[in-house]
Amino acid sequence: MTDFAALGLAEDLVRAVRERGYTVPTPVQSQAIPLILAGHDVLAGAQTGTGKTAAFVLPLLARLGAAASAPTRRIPRALVLTPTRELAAQVEESVRHYGRHTKLHSLVMFGGVGINPQIDGLRRGVDILVATPGRLLDHLQQRTVDLSGVEILVLDEADRMLDMGFIRDIRRILSVLPKVRQNLLFSATFPEEIRELAGSLMRDPKHIEIARLGTTADRIAQQVIITDRGHKKDLLAHLFESRQWQQALVFTRTKHLANRLAEQLDALGISAMAIHGNKSQTARTRALAEFKTGRLRALVATDIAARGIDINELPIVVNFELPMVAEDYVHRIGRTARAGSSGGAVSLVCVDEFRLLEGIERLTRQRFTRDIEAGFEPDPNARAQPIEQGRGQRPPQSRQFSDAPRQHTGQRRSSGGGGGGGGNSRSASHSSGNSGNSNGNSHGNSGGNSNGNSYGDSQRRAGGNGQRAR
Ligand code: AMP
Repeated sequence: MTDFAALGLAEDLVRAVRERGYTVPTPVQSQAIPLILAGHDVLAGAQTGTGKTAAFVLPLLARLGAAASAPTRRIPRALVLTPTRELAAQVEESVRHYGRHTKLHSLVMFGGVGINPQIDGLRRGVDILVATPGRLLDHLQQRTVDLSGVEILVLDEADRMLDMGFIRDIRRILSVLPKVRQNLLFSATFPEEIRELAGSLMRDPKHIEIARLGTTADRIAQQVIITDRGHKKDLLAHLFESRQWQQALVFTRTKHLANRLAEQLDALGISAMAIHGNKSQTARTRALAEFKTGRLRALVATDIAARGIDINELPIVVNFELPMVAEDYVHRIGRTARAGSSGGAVSLVCVDEFRLLEGIERLTRQRFTRDIEAGFEPDPNARAQPIEQGRGQRPPQSRQFSDAPRQHTGQRRSSGGGGGGGGNSRSASHSSGNSGNSNGNSHGNSGGNSNGNSYGDSQRRAGGNGQRAR
């Protein structure tokens, strides 16, 4: 069993890790930290929940701290790009925490909030900049940020950034960085686009792979319960009570359903709030804070809103609806059982979603038992209906959250408007107006709608608590 000091980290960092309560490095930390300290480019396959943030933040701080810059020229020496505001905020919080005994300064910048405080922050001097791509481009265009001193670049959740359509923004940012630098790329999955990006970006990278691609963490008990679409809400309320869930993160595909379900659960006496891209940053932060304190029992979220949310020891994730993109299943259930704690994922699946379920089984290389909960049995004659993704829902490959990527013209694709003067729209996530179920994703999952599948042949009665899929 190694500890953090044995990985080569200096005492000021080890102390900060200890103060956070961690003594044993997670696998991604044990593998990545020495490589990054040695100056290698690193390509890491690690999904959220593995401790990947500290795996790059700690050695990044160590390298910058070991060669402090002249105090007169405090321009960013490390740049971390993340897909969402929440993740940016959480990464920067980690930088601040782990760097508390160093003299390094960090700044987080994302859209949806005023740009001026960020400009002031940059003027005061920053060593480590954590940003979403859209807002960083705003600063580049306004020449309020100087990236000519970047020695270390981190692309965090790179697959998600590409999913959200940030590739052009990323390439434009890359084009202004010094050519000689250390590159770290973290991604849960490695579709072709990521491999291309890595190929163009990295010099002789060292590869690390923590969970095998497309596999779900072994320690997460996963259960699939087949029911009718009209029974899901009552089944969910029933599960809360019968299984005595204190808290659950509940996923829907659309913002509209997230809102409605939160209201319905609330009316049934299960305190709930929705969190999605149409909510203001303040509303999202508040909902998350209330959930973290335990005041809310259910947080109902869409995929993108939940991305990067770090909730320690979240025991239950519920897929009220299966995601259109099989990879999102892996990301969703990765919200539970983080860094060692055990958790459970329960999917409520109706006839419309059988094809999606099969896609998830293919991707995660497992076969679920189709459970049935007494009192919520599915109608054996039910026919599949097309899956509605809601107005303004984008097809998965072009999803975006708040920092809407631009097209060639440099204009935002968003119609969410707002944010003049380079600010990002607060509600850009409904921007493209694309709807429909096109999957278009390149990793070979099923997508599309189910078409009258009959129920699976291996249904059985739910035996109370979720059991392992395999
Ligand atoms: P991440 O994958 O970076 O999102 O981290 C997942 C969770 O694991 C976060 O709550 C971290 O604070 C926590 N964590 C990170 N490193 C460790 C560690 N060495 N031991 C226990 N928990 C950790």
